[in-house]
Amino acid sequence: MNAISKPGIGGAAYRVVDHTYDVVVVGAGGAGLRSTFGMGAAGLKVACITKVFPTRSHTVAAQGGVGASLGNMGEDDWRWHMYDTVKGSDWLGDQDAIEYMCREAVPAIIELEHYGVPFSRTEDGKIYQRPFGGHMQNYGKTPAMRACAAADRTGHAILHTLYQQSLKHNCEFFVEYFALDLIMEEGACRGVMAWNLEDGTIHRFRAQTVVLATGGYGRAYFSCTSAHTCTGDGGGMALRAGLPMQDMEFVQFHPTGIYGSGCLVTEGARGEGGYLTNSEGERFMERYAPTAKDLASRDVVSRAMSMEIREGRGVGPQKDHIHLHLEHLGADLLHERLPGISETAKIFAGVDVTKEPIPMLPTVHYNMGGIPTNIHCEVLRPTADDQDAVVPGLMAVGEAACVSVHGANRLGTNSLLDLVVFGRAAAHRAAETIKPGAAQAPLAADAGDAALSRLDHVRYAKGDTTTAELRAKLQRTMQDHAAVFRTAESLKEGVEKMEKVWTGLPDLRVTDRSLIWNSDLAEALELHNLMGNAMCTMVGAEARHESRGAHAHEDYPERDDQNWMKHTLATCTETGKVELSYRDVKMRTLTNEVSVFPPKPRVY
Ligand SMILES: Cc1cc2nc3c(=O)[nH]c(=O)nc-3n(C[C@H](O)[C@H](O)[C@H](O)COP(=O)(O)OP(=O)(O)OC[C@H]3O[C@@H](n4cnc5c(N)ncnc54)[C@H](O)[C@@H]3O)c2cc1C
Repeated sequence: MNAISKPGIGGAAYRVVDHTYDVVVVGAGGAGLRSTFGMGAAGLKVACITKVFPTRSHTVAAQGGVGASLGNMGEDDWRWHMYDTVKGSDWLGDQDAIEYMCREAVPAIIELEHYGVPFSRTEDGKIYQRPFGGHMQNYGKTPAMRACAAADRTGHAILHTLYQQSLKHNCEFFVEYFALDLIMEEGACRGVMAWNLEDGTIHRFRAQTVVLATGGYGRAYFSCTSAHTCTGDGGGMALRAGLPMQDMEFVQFHPTGIYGSGCLVTEGARGEGGYLTNSEGERFMERYAPTAKDLASRDVVSRAMSMEIREGRGVGPQKDHIHLHLEHLGADLLHERLPGISETAKIFAGVDVTKEPIPMLPTVHYNMGGIPTNIHCEVLRPTADDQDAVVPGLMAVGEAACVSVHGANRLGTNSLLDLVVFGRAAAHRAAETIKPGAAQAPLAADAGDAALSRLDHVRYAKGDTTTAELRAKLQRTMQDHAAVFRTAESLKEGVEKMEKVWTGLPDLRVTDRSLIWNSDLAEALELHNLMGNAMCTMVGAEARHESRGAHAHEDYPERDDQNWMKHTLATCTETGKVELSYRDVKMRTLTNEVSVFPPKPRVY
């Protein structure tokens, strides 16, 4: 480790500290920690950089469960899980990746149990499993009990265990370090630049491989269930490195966000027997999805709720929301299985769930799109001759990535599973391809300078708009134009408005010029990252002339497999110009144990 000085606009120089590791993981959520500790256990020297303390990552908020066909509480089979996931993805998921995830789910969850995750238990001591939307037995016949749960705090339990395991395997943590940009040389990733929020030093990490595990970008929207830190920083870094993002137009709305605050009520609440009603007291899901009813997949339930509200059957004085009933489940069960939800409903809606329904509204919950990868988590930069070309030295895992197991829509419990299975896959790949302590070529003398000068410019930004003002414009635009229902007109207007919002970036004002705990500067950097992600979302959505999964286009209400069964790739320039290209969906499974599922009409 050595330190050098680099000059900045303000006169004072930046102190830059150099580090060398086998692997640097950016992010300490479930994806980052599963990769970190797996790589540490494989004997690699691993650094994990995170802007928040590891156990404060958004994964901690995951409630309902993690899917795996353990069959502890009824018959189950990974093939059924795969079938549901392909169908849930509306045939946009890559079937090799989906097969890998559903098969590996079983050993990956048993491993988690052995690492110490305190799962809830059945009478005979097995991992407790609950039903969840879209998860069925026998290829879509009857609901399956597949979501492995630790009460309604599954993410919390997993994240703490993974952090403990990472410490046990001597992984090194750089906590409250903000990763700024990738260091790229001749198309390969050589490391990452980061800013230490505590003392203002800059750190230049050199590594054989960098893993981006920075989570989603829910904060591009006004109402979302995700943490304030979910600002798509990994996507921002990838876009600035000229890499494409995949399928960004697919944004999942969770049907049950608490009206007003956006706080999530897990689908597990409906898994335990909760149901939705409209102003007439009708259980309307029976009309929209006669088989799965309240447990139909999220896009179906969100759209049904929006339809009820639009047709004047919303509840409340403004008729603008829907009720979720849990009161019939009884205080004992609520206390045992849904304690966190009971508390959240009390705090954020003032509701006693044992007595009254909770007011609900569909809220942004998950980003299906992200940095494209193969099943080994290696980042892809498709070319005309090779759709599977990889970027040497770069991996991505978790919500930041798009290995494309969720396609156009993610099933509940499949994200925690994605983190665990692919965090593990990244570790396996690293163990195969990286030699511990192998010599690394020196970085170019100016490596990281571009990142530093970008930081410097944002730090001294002297415009007239505050970050909060511009962010509010961005969030409103996304909320209004890239919403549950989309039309050609609203999307066209959305693209125009986003272009306008983008022109606000050079007019940003940062008032705090220091480098120590400067949240003004951190939020400005996050806003830059949000913008790239959001722009790709809006432009990709406008271009996709069909309805598929979470992308419900009123002018093109049908899924169009002929023209649109393909992944969108989007790059975005510094001036916000998005370029789109497309890539085939992988319809071939890994083993062909399950015959390839040809797309069928939507029946839920
Ligand atoms: C309320 C809620 C409930 C959910 N419930 C479930 C559920 O029951 N089942 C399920 O399967 N899924 C659920 N999900 C989805 C799932 O929890 C998330 O998709 C998943 O946790 C994302 O994990 P991650 O590791 O990719 O990212 P995160 O957990 O968001 O972690 C991101 C990490 O990246 C770091 N980071 C980001 N930017 C930077 C930067 N610039 N520099 C340094 N570090 C950075 C952060 O510090 C953090 O450590 C839920 C999501 C929410 C919001």
